[in-house]
Amino acid sequence: MTRRNLIVGSALAAFQLNAQNAASTVTLPKLPYALDALEPFIDARTMEIHHGKHHQTYVDNLNKALATQPELAKQPLDQLLKNLSSVPDSIRAAVRNSGGGHANHSLFWQTLGKPKGGPVGKLVKAIDKSFGNQAAFEDKLRVSGLSVFASGWVWVLPSGSDGLSIETSPNQDSPWNAGKTPLFGLDVWEHAYYLKYQNRRADYLAAALKVVNWDFVSARYEDLSK
Ligand code: MN
Repeated sequence: MTRRNLIVGSALAAFQLNAQNAASTVTLPKLPYALDALEPFIDARTMEIHHGKHHQTYVDNLNKALATQPELAKQPLDQLLKNLSSVPDSIRAAVRNSGGGHANHSLFWQTLGKPKGGPVGKLVKAIDKSFGNQAAFEDKLRVSGLSVFASGWVWVLPSGSDGLSIETSPNQDSPWNAGKTPLFGLDVWEHAYYLKYQNRRADYLAAALKVVNWDFVSARYEDLSK
């Protein structure tokens, strides 16, 4: 352990991507903090609309699509996203966009939190190995996030047993579409920042990096790189 002690073991348990319940529907996950917890970096009104309206719409539209394919609805969402070519034409776009939206945002909310401290444990070593240091890592994330044209995400992925890589995706696509599991992602759709930051995505990305829940991300890295 370096820098701070790490409570390991709950990161994957706290993030259930396969949220289909017995009724084969997905539900909007509760935010793990208050709407204003990320102020002043991400404002409460943005959180209210982003979580309560945008994410809810992905949930509703995914459920509408899955209701027409009860057998498919029993599959874990990450499997559906990985195997889009096996999803019937009639709901493929809905699964890709709304299923992707549900998965991406479910992880995103867990990834944020009140500022507490930086990465710990294995994640520190992975950042240093892959990017040099925390500042260089955050610079690369900001530049990658800025490079996304229109709407999309910037992702951090485990790479090998002790490294990290960064990728971007358009729309609600994600590493899950390629059968890979993201460590965390930052939403660069305008709906994530327009109320407070208007067109200033760089300012939003700098702010979002102030409210990354590094305890969660560090524990998730340990789980994913086991
Ligand atoms: Mn979003």
